[in-house]
Amino acid sequence: MTKILVTNDDGVHAPGIFALAQAMRQLGDVTVFAPATNQSASGHKKTLFAEIPVAQTTLRDGYPATAITGSPADSVSMAALGIWQDWPPDIVVSGINRGGNMGQDITYSGTVTAALEAALTGVKAIAFSLDNMEANDPADYAEAARVAVEVVKVALARPLPPLTILNVNIPKIDRVKGLRLARQGVRIYFDELVPVNDDKSVYRITGPAPSGVYDTVGTDVWAVHRGYASITPIHLDMTAHQFMAELSVWDIEV
Ligand code: MN
Repeated sequence: MTKILVTNDDGVHAPGIFALAQAMRQLGDVTVFAPATNQSASGHKKTLFAEIPVAQTTLRDGYPATAITGSPADSVSMAALGIWQDWPPDIVVSGINRGGNMGQDITYSGTVTAALEAALTGVKAIAFSLDNMEANDPADYAEAARVAVEVVKVALARPLPPLTILNVNIPKIDRVKGLRLARQGVRIYFDELVPVNDDKSVYRITGPAPSGVYDTVGTDVWAVHRGYASITPIHLDMTAHQFMAELSVWDIEV
């Protein structure tokens, strides 16, 4: 039987992981390991300087799940390190995230970095995100879950290269126009610094959701902005290969 490990960064009780876990049950045996609370934008965090509680819980339909009081990557890592007797799964699926993870979002994204953690252990992984920050009900994730089933169905039968994951984004639309192979586009952020107290010793980072450069053809932000789901292969080698030659003539002497 196909073994599918489901995780996320919005927390084990988020609507998106429920929709994803339920959909994945069409394709195999589903096991859920996810953060106990919302860990969005926690990046590829590994908890090394705190103790990490592990608890059994259930999804909203009573399906068993394991809640990790740590990061998304911790959830995958701890499953791999021995909490889950059945490791390795055939695939790790992460999401469905509340909000897109496109362009430069991916190193912030716990959804994507949970998948990257799986890739570090040599396990196939896919991240799914819905470009809708107001998706608070499992029904809002129905179309994204349908897309996830189609993607995972094919991916289960194909190898992925080492250190490579797939990053899938789904637009806020009743029926996607299709799936587009896309490269990472450019995000535009609108972060704002807001002082919390009068002496300005405490702040919040807030602001509207990011937009993107929507007119560059072939990118994730381009595809999703036009009603297509996007699929982007992501590699953990973040070397700027195109800059290596120029950097070589800097003549840094040490
Ligand atoms: Mn999230």
